[in-house]
Amino acid sequence: MLNPGDHVVVGVSGGKDSMALLHFLLKMKRKIPGLEITAVLVDEGIKGYREKTIPNLTRYAEARGVKYIIASFRDYIGATLDEIVETSFTQKLPHMPCSYCGVFRRNVLNIVAREVNATVIATAHNLDDVIQTYLMNLINNSWDRILSLAPVREAKGEGIVKRIKPFYEIPEKETALYALINRLVEPEFHQCPYVKYNVRFTIRKVLNELEDRYPGSKHGLLRSLLDIISLHEKAGLLKKEYTKCKICGSPASHSICRSCIFRAELGLLKRDEKSKLEEIINLEPEIKHLLKHYHNPS
Ligand code: SF4
Ligand code: ZN
Repeated sequence: MLNPGDHVVVGVSGGKDSMALLHFLLKMKRKIPGLEITAVLVDEGIKGYREKTIPNLTRYAEARGVKYIIASFRDYIGATLDEIVETSFTQKLPHMPCSYCGVFRRNVLNIVAREVNATVIATAHNLDDVIQTYLMNLINNSWDRILSLAPVREAKGEGIVKRIKPFYEIPEKETALYALINRLVEPEFHQCPYVKYNVRFTIRKVLNELEDRYPGSKHGLLRSLLDIISLHEKAGLLKKEYTKCKICGSPASHSICRSCIFRAELGLLKRDEKSKLEEIINLEPEIKHLLKHYHNPS
């Protein structure tokens, strides 16, 4: 996953998984010459939640001289997640808080990685996260998303940073244990207030019950996912190239990335970005099907 001289941006929330990943990657510095690490914490702006986990990172990083950046939704997206959710509910937009959170977090991480010239983005997705996403996408019949669940996504295309998931095969219980043994987090539990809107947490419960009754189920699901990805790869069906969003420069499957579509719907585009969007719509009218919920007030 990593090569000598890589500059890795580690997506850190201050929770157990991401603190474990940061700690683990810092150890890797001894084995991989020239490895540079920058921890990036994306502060979504969730009142009463994120401020409880931020000190885990700042305390750790300052004690060890680790470079870290706190990048907020307010600065990069234009509003906090709390404000976004309120606007979305008021405008009766069809997206759930976690959809905004995931898309914007990924976008901010990409932008910061480009700003610091990183060669790799590492995220702390563990075995449980991966198979939960696999099942959620199976239920939605979203094969594109299933096929993008590989542990490594190479940088295909200009401005696209390679992404890795080093804990892909590690169960959540083990990353939690690693974080506790190494005293990376306090043994207390903070829950995001938007959890109740996310189907993931029901799937998580079901998968945990399944694993309890039939040990090995989680790894079985992971193997089936890896087989599906590899079969598509062998059949040449995995050639999806990302392009660059014409508004923010992030990886996108179309001319505009999902984050800019959401920002347009929420009225968060800046004036110049709005003009760019209008130009794109004029040049590529077919893009309008992605912007069903965008109403240009001007
Ligand atoms: Fe974001 Fe949803 Fe997780 Fe809360 S539960 S941090 S809104 S993805
Ligand atoms: Zn964009």
